[in-house]
Formats: sequence, structure tokens, C-alpha cells
Amino acid sequence: MAVRIFTCKSCNYEMRLGASDCRYCFKPAPFLNRRKSLIGLAVITVLAFVWVVLGPAG
Ligand SMILES: [Zn+2]
Repeated sequence: MAVRIFTCKSCNYEMRLGASDCRYCFKPAPFLNRRKSLIGLAVITVLAFVWVVLGPAG
């Protein structure tokens, strides 16, 4: 099942999460839709979670 959150600003096509451009009109996808951004967000989320669980003092 494809996760579609972001729509293309040019043609309103619902882009697949992680795609770097629109499959319909080939315009660049929003920054947050790109795979590298998603990986970065995931890493930050995990680090924040570990920090909260362990506490600031470690
Ligand atoms: Zn488009």
C-alpha cells in the first residue's frame, strides 16, 4: 500500500511518499516528501526518543 501524504503543487497529483518528483508532471516534490528528508527525520526522531528515555545525564 502506497502512502500518499503530499500532493504536487503544479498538478495536484498525490505523490508517493519518498518520491523526489511528481510521477505525473515531473516537477520536483516538496522537500519533506523526499526520501533523504524522511531518513533524516527518522534518525532525529529516534535520537530524540533515546534522549528522552535515558535522560539528559545519560
Ligand atoms: Zn505534478
